[in-house]
Amino acid sequence: MNSDPLPPWSIPSAEAWKRGHMLDRATKEHFERSLLAPYALFSSESKGRAHAEEDDDLRTCWERDRDRVIHCTAFRRLMYKTQVLVNSDGDHKRTRLSHSLEVAQVARSVGSALGLNEVLCETLALAHDIGHPPFGHRGETALDALMQSRGGFRHNNQVLRVVDQLERRSPDYPGLNLTREVRESLLKNEPGEQWPKEFRPRPVRPYLEAQVVDLADSTAYNVHDIEDGLVAGMFTEEQLEQACALWLGARESVELRHPGFLEDTHDRNLRIKRITNELLKICINDLIHASSKRIKRLGPKSADDARKIKTRQIDHSRPLKSEVTQLQKFLHKHFYRHPHLRELSRQAEKVLSALFGELLENPSEMPAWYQEWSEEVGRHRAVCDYLAGMTDRFAQSEFDRLSGRSAPTR
Ligand code: MG
Repeated sequence: MNSDPLPPWSIPSAEAWKRGHMLDRATKEHFERSLLAPYALFSSESKGRAHAEEDDDLRTCWERDRDRVIHCTAFRRLMYKTQVLVNSDGDHKRTRLSHSLEVAQVARSVGSALGLNEVLCETLALAHDIGHPPFGHRGETALDALMQSRGGFRHNNQVLRVVDQLERRSPDYPGLNLTREVRESLLKNEPGEQWPKEFRPRPVRPYLEAQVVDLADSTAYNVHDIEDGLVAGMFTEEQLEQACALWLGARESVELRHPGFLEDTHDRNLRIKRITNELLKICINDLIHASSKRIKRLGPKSADDARKIKTRQIDHSRPLKSEVTQLQKFLHKHFYRHPHLRELSRQAEKVLSALFGELLENPSEMPAWYQEWSEEVGRHRAVCDYLAGMTDRFAQSEFDRLSGRSAPTR
C-alpha cells in the first residue's frame, strides 16, 4: 500500500510521514505482532469470515468489524433503549448506547494496559448489548415468557441473530459477516448458556479480550448506576457511606486530592461526579494490576492457551472483589428493586405482551421484510425478532397506535 515501504521492523520517522507514509493494514498487523502480549489475539491470525472477503488495504479485520458495528442500525437503536432508567427519566441518564460507549472506554483502558488487542476489545464492547430488547432486562424477561414454548428469548443469543441474520449491509450475505473471533466472543461463556454447535468444542474460558469486556461491562454499570441512582434521588450518599467500603475508599481518594472540597462544596452534582470518577479509577486500576498478576502466575503462552485455563485471568483482586460485591448488593436493594422500576417492569410487560399478540394475529402490521422473515423462521420468532429490535419509544408508539390510542406514527 505504501509507495515507499519501510522495512517491517521500523517505526516511521518524521521524514517517512513527510513522504506520505500511511499506517496500512500490513504495518498495523506488524505493530500488533511487535507490541502485543503473546496471549493477545492477532488480527493477522484471524480465522476469518463465514463469507470470504478481500482484506482491506488500510484496516485490520477487527477495525473493519468495529466499523460495521458502529454503522449498523441495531447499534444506533441503543440510543433509545433503556439501560435501567428510561429516557423519559431525564436526558442525562444512561441509555444502552452511552453504557456501551463507557464499556468501550473501560475495556480499551484495561486491554491496552495488559498488551491485549485494544481494537478487538473496543469492537466487542460496542457490540455486546446489541441483542438487548426494549425496556432493558424487564423487556428481556417479558419476551422470554412470551416465547417460552418456542425456545425462549435470551439477549446473549439474540446478539448473534442480529449480527448474523437480522442486520443487512450487502447483497452477498445476510448480517454483518463479522470474523469468527468476534462472533464467538459475543456469546456469554457461562455454564447455563447454550453453546452453538459451530463453536464447539466449547473453550473453558473466553479469549482474554472477551474476559476484559465482561469485567468492563460490570465495572461500567456498577459505577454509572451509582451515579444515576444518586442523581435521581433513589438513594443517598449517606446510605452509600454506611453500606459500601468502595464508596468510602473513593471518597478518601477525593479528600486526599482536593482537601476540604467534599465538606465545603454545595455543588452536589460535582461532588457525586468527582467521587464516582474516583470509584471508576480504583476499579480499573485494580482490574489491570490484579489481572496482570494472575496472567503472570498462570503463564498462558498464546490466546488459545489462555482459553484452556480454568481460573478467570481477568478479574479484580480478592479485597476489591468483595467490595464490588457489597456495592452490587446495595444497588440490587436500593436501585434495581426500587418501586419506580417495578412499575416500569409492569409497563414493559403490558406493552410487549399486547404487541406480541397483535402482531401474531396481524403480521401485516410488521414491515414487509419481517413478514417474509416469518416464512423462514416461523411467525413467533419473526415477531420476537421484530419486537427485540424496537427501541422503547417505538414499542410504546406502536402499542398506542395498535390499541387505537393515537394516530399512526409511520
Ligand atoms: Mg452491558
